[in-house]
Amino acid sequence: MKLLTPGPLTTTRTVREQMLEDRCTWDTDYKETTQWIRKELLALAHASEENYTTILMQGSGSFVVESVLTSTIRPEDRLLIITNGAYGERIVQMAKTIGLQYDVYAVPYDEQPQIALLEDYLMKGSYTHVAVVHCETTTGILNPVEAIGEVVHQYGATFIVDAMSSFGGVPLNIQEAQIDYLISSANKCIQGVPGFGFVLAKKAHFLTTKGISRSVSLDLYDQWVTMDVDGKWRFTSPTHVVAAFAQAIHELHEEGGVTARYERYRLNNQMIRTQLQEVGIHAYIDEAIQSPIITTYLFPNEAFSFEDFYEAMKEAGFILYPGKLTEVDTFRIGNIGDVHAQDFRVLCEAIKTYMGVQVG
Ligand SMILES: *Cc1c(COP(=O)(O)O)cnc(C)c1O
Repeated sequence: MKLLTPGPLTTTRTVREQMLEDRCTWDTDYKETTQWIRKELLALAHASEENYTTILMQGSGSFVVESVLTSTIRPEDRLLIITNGAYGERIVQMAKTIGLQYDVYAVPYDEQPQIALLEDYLMKGSYTHVAVVHCETTTGILNPVEAIGEVVHQYGATFIVDAMSSFGGVPLNIQEAQIDYLISSANKCIQGVPGFGFVLAKKAHFLTTKGISRSVSLDLYDQWVTMDVDGKWRFTSPTHVVAAFAQAIHELHEEGGVTARYERYRLNNQMIRTQLQEVGIHAYIDEAIQSPIITTYLFPNEAFSFEDFYEAMKEAGFILYPGKLTEVDTFRIGNIGDVHAQDFRVLCEAIKTYMGVQVG
């Protein structure tokens, strides 16, 4: 079965095989693996070790987003959250729960934020932090983090990017995009299994954040203090997941790095988009601002049943993803994971057959 979902996703057998061995959190080899991963992640983001550091954190991606919010924003600070999907809205929910001072620049789900409007916000409010999602997995739209980072930097604010579903699959230079905190997790474009996430943090800001966290288990600074010594995690670490993740990084290199992976995702995404269009299934997001990670498709007609379609695709060997929009009926197809052109050719055939049957 191939998962065409944004994570957990289809992993390779060799990644999964790493989990057959039990490892000790105190062991030198294990701690070295952690340190190696931390360095590799910096390299993937083109971040220098002088200016950036990596913190790995137990939990799913959301735990790590919450960890950054609770650990790096003080009560007297003010956060601007840019939203155009459910993951941006989750940041709002977290900010509210933590009790942060914040405002929301709400953008329609099918549009990118406008730089001029963002500047208005930054000019009028005294924001110390700005947060945005890179690839909004809700729709698959890609937000222009480089252009946003430029303005955020001009106004002297700290820039937080949820790059959960894009990091490792969409080329990004963290320094050029002026990102202070980049968040992602093990089970997305690096193609590992779920269990932890990570933060690439700009030291100039991060080293000033000691003691801010309102949570013990999500305290990013404390996590870093322990981990930075020799790779030992604070509290139990997901040893199997970490070993699988190291293997996943090796396999990313074998594929040719982020650019090659991006190219694979892009070509497959393009193929599905074109072929589905032929059978009357259209994408929700305009091609120019669409990520190659996941695509939202509109139901082709009133009679279309996602449940029925889902079962037919499952029979053909593919797990699709339901839509996450409230106003329109949609479903999603993910391109990330160990899935290749041949898989998508089979999928497109299955969809064409299904649609043929339906249309008559
Ligand atoms: C997957 C994802 C998350 C984290 O979701 P979890 O279910 O907590 O792993 C956060 N933001 C984006 C954009 C995502 O795609």
